[in-house]
Formats: sequence, C-alpha cells, structure tokens
Amino acid sequence: LIEARDLTLSFGETPALRGASLAVEAGEVLAIMGPSGSGKSTLLHCLAGILTPDSGEVHFAGRRLDTMPEAQRSALRRDTFGFVFQFGQLVPELTAEENVALPLLLRGTKRAAALAEARPWFARLGLDGMERRRSGELSGGQAQRVALARGLVARPQVLFADEPTGALDSLTGEQVMELMVGAAREQGTAVVLVTHEPRVAAYADREAMVRDGRARTTRLAPEQVAS
Ligand code: ATP
Ligand code: MG
Repeated sequence: LIEARDLTLSFGETPALRGASLAVEAGEVLAIMGPSGSGKSTLLHCLAGILTPDSGEVHFAGRRLDTMPEAQRSALRRDTFGFVFQFGQLVPELTAEENVALPLLLRGTKRAAALAEARPWFARLGLDGMERRRSGELSGGQAQRVALARGLVARPQVLFADEPTGALDSLTGEQVMELMVGAAREQGTAVVLVTHEPRVAAYADREAMVRDGRARTTRLAPEQVAS
C-alpha cells in the first residue's frame, strides 16, 4: 500500500535519513523501532507526505506521494490517513468529543452525525464522562487515548502513530494496541507505529529497525505476534 525507496533527508547539516526503504501492506501492523534520533519520526512524516525527502520515492496506492502538489497531498492526508502524533495532539479550544469528531467534520460530515460517530469511542477507550472536557482537563494518558480515537474515527486506509502508548500504563497500552490491531484486521487499515517498547512492537506483524537513517525490516515470528 505504501512503499518508500531509498529516502534521504537532511535538516540543514544534520542527515536524518540516509537511504531508508520500507513497505507496508493494507491490513498490516508495522512497528518502527530504533534509538532516539535515528530518524523514526522523520521517516514516518515522509511516508505520510508531511515531509518531502531530498531524494528517493514514496508511493501510496500506486500514486507517487513525494512529488504530488501540496494541495493534492493535504487532501489525501485528510481523506485517507489518520494520525496520532508524539506531542501536543489535541486542539485545546475543542472538547474531547469535538477533537475526536474533527477528521469527520473536515471531510464534510454534518456536526450531529460526526459527534454521534465520535461518542462510542469514549466507552471503547475507558473514557466515559470525558466527552465534554477540554484537553487541559485531561491527563496525559487520557489525551493520548482521545488522540487515538481521533486517528481511527474516520476509518483511515493508513494510521500513522508516533509513540501512541508513550503516556499510558501497560494495561491501557495493551488496550490501545488491541484497538489498532483490530482496525488493521477488521477494516484493513495499515498501521505504521513508532515505539520504543518491545512489548508494544510485539503486536506488530513486522518490525522496521531504524539506525542512522536506514531501515531494516524483519517479519516477526508467528509466536511473537500477539494476535
Ligand atoms: P526520538 O525517538 O527521540 O523521537 P527519532 O528517531 O524520531 O527520535 P527524528 O525526530 O526522526 O528521530 O530525528 C532524526 C534526526 O533529525 C535527529 O538528529 C534530529 O535531531 C534531527 N531533526 C529532526 N527534526 C528536525 C528539525 N525539524 N530540525 C532540525 N533537525 C531535526
Ligand atoms: Mg521521534
């Protein structure tokens, strides 16, 4: 579904990617691991068409993403991708349920219908009663779960998640992983997630190890796959 070939990207003098390649299929969960500063977030942002690599190619569903005009690319992100970012994910002016409904509102769904789609996620994520709170009134782990619901609510073809379990205790982290794997299995969402935690990566079908801006992908042994 997504294929990156030989990506390079530097921030000024700092090379972040030095020839990174990887591929993700529909319905597959890919965990991106590697040391801090190795280029994981940069790679994720290139795959999602948020950053443009200096060289190399990114293909999504047979279309070339890295050279696509930005207007087309942002429409593709809005209509096709879901995101859970590493930091500062929620819109502070909106309530939690409005944050979850946001991707649907941006795609043109009417407010009442979008909120009706958003609400069941609160029970699913153990967030009953949090619907009307603003992000300042949520704990870090609650805000992260709201961000996950927002990433999945519009049933994206690809969910990009950067440290989605970082602020969660292990039980909640497992619950979040089960929801992401469920989205992959039930609606064919490709899940690309960056994580430091081997326990989280164990839910993935494959693992991409990033070191010094290069990625090496391995299929996890079936006994390591959690579901
Ligand atoms: P972490 O696990 O700490 O999140 P990471 O693997 O996600 O790290 P990246 O954020 O991709 O690492 O960064 C890769 C390299 O690029 C690092 O050396 C980082 O300092 C640099 N870098 C990333 N973003 C920028 C930026 N906006 N401006 C300048 N340098 C950047
Ligand atoms: Mg990062």
